[in-house]
Amino acid sequence: MTAGARLWRCRACDWRGAPERIWCPRCGADEIEELRVETGTVEEATIVRRSVGGYPGTTRMASIAVDGGGRLIARLGAGAGAGSAVRLEEDGGVAVARPAKRARHAAVGEATT
Ligand SMILES: [Zn+2]
Repeated sequence: MTAGARLWRCRACDWRGAPERIWCPRCGADEIEELRVETGTVEEATIVRRSVGGYPGTTRMASIAVDGGGRLIARLGAGAGAGSAVRLEEDGGVAVARPAKRARHAAVGEATT
């Protein structure tokens, strides 16, 4: 497991996204650089019941709005759903989103759910 997930950015116009592109889909420049991003928010989640590759059973997938801009698709860990803040990792080159630890704003005894 590697901390952060890869996202690609156009140096010319600041487009950000995944997967990697040879040219920027917004402006056509070929100045694409790789970033490593660590946090974001789940936009939508779905369950994939049949997949090609090494994941038996069902897999939850989500589109993630990356903090700082851009969007990527990630496998979604348990405990996260639409609207959840997530931290990003990579497992064998595949982006994985896990629930971010909640900030401890609640006072002692206050409900946190
Ligand atoms: Zn561009």
